Amino acid sequence: MGPFIPRLAFIQKAALAYPLGRELMSRLKAEDVEVSVYEKKLPLSTQKTFAERFFLSKRTMVVLVWKRRDFQTCRPSAHYQLPLVSGCPGLCEYCYLNTNLGRTPYVKVYVNVEDILDRAREYVDERRPATTVFEGSATSDPVAVEAWTGSLQRAIRFFAALDNARFRFVTKYTDIGGLLGIPHKGKTEVRFSINCNYALERFETGTPRLQNRLKAAREIARAGYPLGFLVGPIFVFEGWREEYTKLLHAVRDYVPDDIGVTIELITHRFTARSKKVIEQVYPGTQVPLDKEERRFKHGQFGYGKYVYPDNVMAEIREFFERQIGAVLPHARILYIV
Ligand code: SF4
Repeated sequence: MGPFIPRLAFIQKAALAYPLGRELMSRLKAEDVEVSVYEKKLPLSTQKTFAERFFLSKRTMVVLVWKRRDFQTCRPSAHYQLPLVSGCPGLCEYCYLNTNLGRTPYVKVYVNVEDILDRAREYVDERRPATTVFEGSATSDPVAVEAWTGSLQRAIRFFAALDNARFRFVTKYTDIGGLLGIPHKGKTEVRFSINCNYALERFETGTPRLQNRLKAAREIARAGYPLGFLVGPIFVFEGWREEYTKLLHAVRDYVPDDIGVTIELITHRFTARSKKVIEQVYPGTQVPLDKEERRFKHGQFGYGKYVYPDNVMAEIREFFERQIGAVLPHARILYIV
């Protein structure tokens, strides 16, 4: 899979005051991307249908200045989100961003990375001597645009030099060449998001193949980064145990035995809002979205989500704890939600 080339780009005028803004302008033009500069408000989309707007937004890069504000909290994976990028060009039908980004899921990249990192430093100072953990992928897959921005590289170097702080991000993308060989002091944890073939084949488009993600994971481990896997969203379907067992075996085949990877397990969930988006954008989707089959759970940001009922959750938990213990005995499960 080649790097992401947007179809359109909107550049905020104020972003051109920053070197990264100017660099992106000339690189986007060199790739023949249609670039327009806007001042205050993003131009309205000319697409007629919801689905057309959605798909064009996924291929639209917005280059802008991050406005200073509080970071969002980010349980259970970290203390705070680190907002380097928002949005992702991938087309995973179940994507959790469908709830937050809704109708115009632009790929937004911020040019003033230093300001974002300065704000992160303030949070770390407030919480010292406790360690503060930042999550770089709460609203995006930042590796998808790393070849454009280099923001992850900068964040990794920044956290390597900052005491009482750690950084982590998760990705399905494999463009990690620029992250190998930079100083990280083991303070950035890179996780790869993976799933069984059943889910990859039905629900994911525009993301690298599993084998390529596992190869990238192996390179990250060789470069000395702490490595993790996020298995999700976990679906329950006819034969799910066999499929997820195969996935754990694939991880074992690629990742050196003796390194202690971490594993996060996230079962499939949806919100009323994401269900609406998914059904409009991917009519005929096979993502299970039947509210009757789920338990409603109140969520952190005021909207509830539909999760698997308790008996199914218990089966999932029991299965993964047992299988991971058997197939990946050095792995540590961080949480199952
Ligand atoms: Fe969403 Fe991740 Fe897929 Fe991007 S790669 S569309 S962020 S699930």
